[in-house]
Amino acid sequence: MNGTFKILLSALAFAGSVFCALVQSGPAWAQLPPGMKMFETTKIADGVYSFRYAFHRNMFVVTDEGVIATDPMNPKAAGSMMDEIKKVTEKPVKYVIYSHEHWDHISGGRVFKAAGARFISHANCAREFKNNPNPNVVMPDETYMGSRKDVNLGGRTVELHYFGRNHGECLSVMRLPKEKILFIVDIVTPKRVAFRNMPDFYPLDWVRSLAEIEKLDFERIIPGHGPPTAPAAAVREQRVYLEDLMTAVREARKTERNPDEIRKMVKLPKYKTWGAYKQYLEMNVERINFFYHMGK
Ligand SMILES: [Zn+2]
Repeated sequence: MNGTFKILLSALAFAGSVFCALVQSGPAWAQLPPGMKMFETTKIADGVYSFRYAFHRNMFVVTDEGVIATDPMNPKAAGSMMDEIKKVTEKPVKYVIYSHEHWDHISGGRVFKAAGARFISHANCAREFKNNPNPNVVMPDETYMGSRKDVNLGGRTVELHYFGRNHGECLSVMRLPKEKILFIVDIVTPKRVAFRNMPDFYPLDWVRSLAEIEKLDFERIIPGHGPPTAPAAAVREQRVYLEDLMTAVREARKTERNPDEIRKMVKLPKYKTWGAYKQYLEMNVERINFFYHMGK
């Protein structure tokens, strides 16, 4: 490799890592980095697309009989998503599948409902929506109990896998068996530490679920935040990060009881190149410290 080429490659890698860090660390209300479009659609495999709006991402699958869409985010994002889908197919959106119950991922469904789509989620999501209604969240037409449901359309299958509570109470991980792709929201963000103070995460169940997800047959993921796709290893890396974080906090608690000191003393240099390490690590530590303090 010649010198100029090496410099070019390292410049590209740097630009990429800055971009990824911004995309991965940015909460929904953060400003987009200069030059980044509000939304974009990326083709991941034949008929499989990932749509990003600001810092949120979903997946849609185009089949001969219509489209299987996921997570409609919010009304503005869903409108843009509908336009993007129309650019790749004339077929209607037949299904909208919710990954989980959190409003920031699923509040834009009305445009798809008006166009006749059928909404699907785990049964626990429907229970959450009844207990805590939001006028922008379309109630599911169809739910499943237990650990598995298949959605079939036009010769394609989207498998829904439920691993119990981990992030919220009703998170489905979606698998495309032919393409060996997982759509996995919030519980894996490639090479980024956990989000802020881990809102609505159950740390032990999170680790347990990731270990179970690692046993599925898949080669790539589409995450709910971050890059359009990432290698399967991202799931294991996220689990190992959480285990390392929990071990480090347990160790710190052996010599220190003051939460303000614990928050500052725990460092995980192995992850210092990960997105949001500087911004979120202390918040991650605080959350895990109180998990051990309170038992949940
Ligand atoms: Zn969430």
